[in-house]
Amino acid sequence: MVAQLPALLRQRCPAHRYAVIADHHVAELHGARLMNVLKDGGLEAQLLPFPSGEWNKTRDQWSLLSDAMLAAGMGRDAAVIAFGGGVAGDLAGFVAATYLRGIPFVQIPTTLLAMIDASVGGKTGLDVPAGKNLVGAFHQPRLVLADVDLLATLPRAHIAAGMAEAIKHGIIRDRGYLATLDDAAPCLARDLDRLDAVVMGSVAIKASVVSADEREAGVRAILNYGHTVGHAVEALSGFDLLHGEAVAIGMVVEARLAELSGVASPGLLSRVSDLLARYALPVALPESLGSDALLELMQRDKKVRAAQLRLALPCEPGLMAQSGDGAWTVEVSPQLMRQALDSSR
Ligand code: NAD
Repeated sequence: MVAQLPALLRQRCPAHRYAVIADHHVAELHGARLMNVLKDGGLEAQLLPFPSGEWNKTRDQWSLLSDAMLAAGMGRDAAVIAFGGGVAGDLAGFVAATYLRGIPFVQIPTTLLAMIDASVGGKTGLDVPAGKNLVGAFHQPRLVLADVDLLATLPRAHIAAGMAEAIKHGIIRDRGYLATLDDAAPCLARDLDRLDAVVMGSVAIKASVVSADEREAGVRAILNYGHTVGHAVEALSGFDLLHGEAVAIGMVVEARLAELSGVASPGLLSRVSDLLARYALPVALPESLGSDALLELMQRDKKVRAAQLRLALPCEPGLMAQSGDGAWTVEVSPQLMRQALDSSR
């Protein structure tokens, strides 16, 4: 499918030159092939690698990449190709959103998580010392090319981490899709047909939510299921856990919270944790992450409204709760959150 890139670029994102902003590791594995496809297709492109890892989704990397494009003399008629996982997508997307006040960009995600989640929806950004994704912009890619053949080199733990977001999509919107994820073996064995089906199913769900609420004023909040706790876990663990692993723990704690608060009937928590466990994803909070520190981080989360802790919570698999004011988040007391955290170890 990457072979079709030149034709797709001419159609969807024509540009004089392309800056291919690639995660270093992905550039080593797949960069030469991508650059050859572009060259053979008659397109001018320059590979700009950056060091892999969440800890490089920073202002420093954003400046280095933007400066490299300026030094190469790229103008408004240039475009960015983000090549890598969610880190490359967020970082390269933010470079594109801000370069010369914004140039077009294209995503070629190379992790399952980026294919089913991070590349869809137009959120770009950086992590800063105060927290994850706190500086960023909405900037929609002109094209997302998800080629599951690229997943052949992705480690199994990263396949599982991507499946955490797929499970989230089923829980928030589609019980039928969730049932298709019960058999973990084919995805973990990188059966490309199954992975393709997961990409199609998840993208359809995420796209339907995002297209109803591009700027996160309403229903898009349901995509944050598992993420209020997940982001705090991710930050406090010093990025020892993969994003999808932190989200898996977050979904378990938030499912427990939904049951404790009466938003969900008993059964939700066991459905969520059983399914995550099939993918060997963590379903309990590490002992080292204290409830006080997690609560403090959550109260600083950018989605906290008027100092209240509000979360997107499921009432049952496939259906999210709506509060009386129509919001897709439910207010939760710090005491109840603490109870959910304490009983998730
Ligand atoms: P990542 O981009 O760090 O990639 C994970 C690792 O896999 C990296 O070490 C990378 O080098 C390696 N890798 C990537 N593709 C590979 C391949 N094909 N073969 C072998 N190795 C490969 O992490 P991720 O899990 O893809 O994404 C997490 C990031 O996505 C987080 O920063 C998160 O905030 C962001 N995210 C953004 C959105 C959004 O809407 N913008 C949504 C979800 C997550």
